[in-house]
Amino acid sequence: MPTAVFKAVIVGAGPAGLTAAYELSKKNAPVVVLESDPEYVGGISRTVNYKGFHFDIGGHRFFSKSREVEDLWSEIAGPDMLERPRSSRIYYRGQFYTYPLKPFEALSKLGLFESTRCMLSFAKARLRPTPNPRTFEDWVVNQFGERLFRIFFKTYTEKVWGMSCQEISADWAAQRIKGLSLGSAIKHALLPPRKPKDRQQVVKTLIDTFRYPRRGPGMMWEACATKIRQLGGEVLLGRRVTGCRFDSGRKVWIVAARDANGQTEEFCGENLVSSMPIRELVAQIEPKLSDEANRAAKSLRYRDFLTVGLIVRDQGRFTDNWIYIHDPSVQVGRVQNYKSWSPEMVPDPAYCSYGLEYFCFEDDRMWSAPDADLIALAKNEIQQINLAAAADVVDGCVIRQPKAYPVYDDAYQRHVATVRASLETSFPTLHLVGRNGMHKYNNQDHAMMTAMLTAKNILAGDRKYDVWAVNQDAEYHEAGAAGENAAEVLGDKPAETSLGVA
Ligand SMILES: Cc1cc2nc3c(=O)[nH]c(=O)nc-3n(C[C@H](O)[C@H](O)[C@H](O)COP(=O)(O)OP(=O)(O)OC[C@H]3O[C@@H](n4cnc5c(N)ncnc54)[C@H](O)[C@@H]3O)c2cc1C
Repeated sequence: MPTAVFKAVIVGAGPAGLTAAYELSKKNAPVVVLESDPEYVGGISRTVNYKGFHFDIGGHRFFSKSREVEDLWSEIAGPDMLERPRSSRIYYRGQFYTYPLKPFEALSKLGLFESTRCMLSFAKARLRPTPNPRTFEDWVVNQFGERLFRIFFKTYTEKVWGMSCQEISADWAAQRIKGLSLGSAIKHALLPPRKPKDRQQVVKTLIDTFRYPRRGPGMMWEACATKIRQLGGEVLLGRRVTGCRFDSGRKVWIVAARDANGQTEEFCGENLVSSMPIRELVAQIEPKLSDEANRAAKSLRYRDFLTVGLIVRDQGRFTDNWIYIHDPSVQVGRVQNYKSWSPEMVPDPAYCSYGLEYFCFEDDRMWSAPDADLIALAKNEIQQINLAAAADVVDGCVIRQPKAYPVYDDAYQRHVATVRASLETSFPTLHLVGRNGMHKYNNQDHAMMTAMLTAKNILAGDRKYDVWAVNQDAEYHEAGAAGENAAEVLGDKPAETSLGVA
């Protein structure tokens, strides 16, 4: 039986868990963070080091419309933050298209015939839109027309989600693409760049610079963990949380965590902050939730993601930060060039490090394929899309990221609402934060804002802030002010997106 009682036991050392721990530690509240990864903090925002080359799990732009989040990044890693230019393109059928799209370049590369078809199908969609679009496909076709949907959305989106665009909810498109329309892309391309008067006006997709730590996002979260420890908090790695039991007599949480040797240790806290996937949390919680809530949690789905890191002799073929691969002839979905994110991502300027991103499910053959096979596949594909010669690839590694994306299918909102209602009634001192912790497909800033508000709630001993009312831009709206429920608030704002996925 543990003797120390922490103010909060925090599950997960990703941006959400570490932000909660840091905010609480600054107010002298004792905390412990339990992280299953034996080596890295940062969660999906960690940076993996392979022979001195740094690999990010997807490039992580640091940009937020929330001033508080930007300030917190500066407070944690200020001197190490670079301001970086953004450059990205789309590869489709042997051609590279500047992204954000430049209409004249896109039209000339598509050719007169295809361009005319795009414009006609766009006009048709504007004249005869699908009323009340329910699927991703209907929503995007309404917005951009059938032809542009096929070229710039369909293959990439289906690679990412592993399902047809007819199965993906329109809700996802509305959240992720709302800030961008054909009109805004064209306007951006034609008009000289103007600095927006305030951060709220920025369409995040189109920002042309962003902040980035010198050696990747992991640097931010390492610095945060160091600060927590300096303030007296504990951040323990290699501790997988396997049980969360509420002791109603003592009104505390008893959290069991297993280490690499299979030993289980228990931690006791007045509050439990969870950034682990809702599905895992609900399976562990005691006393058990209702059958209905358990069924709802089990129905939540996730998309997994692996990066094949290639170390390549730099022949100057590609200087973008990333390239979306819309081409259906290869499996790779996106290619990152980490040296363009920061020169310090590579130990030797004669080389660059690419990240070839493959989207899959944990039970796909690809997920469990031997690393050597995946590296061979990536080598072939990088040559096929003309970004490097296979002979220039000198080494490689594979980084797997389970549950990279919470899936937004038709039913997820209902399932999350069921679980949330059950947890909130039974356990007022349990706090869900972050991406999989709340099943929200959002960026670091959202995860951090939910954690910042949670820390305030814990210190106040009351749920003063409804973390579900934080929208994907990390803005908090009081219930009633911007809509009666979180779903309304969420759907209300322009969002981070590419023509594909963050
Ligand atoms: C490809 C890709 C690109 C992205 N690009 C950007 C970007 O450009 N900018 C941006 O801001 N965001 C980006 N994001 C989003 C960002 O990665 C997430 O929003 C952020 O990491 C979420 O933080 P979190 O703490 O909620 O969750 P996570 O980062 O998932 O952290 C959760 C932590 O909990 C741990 N954990 C889980 N279960 C247990 C358990 N049982 N016991 C102990 N520990 C456990 C995990 O190991 C993990 O460390 C991107 C994401 C992806 C997948």
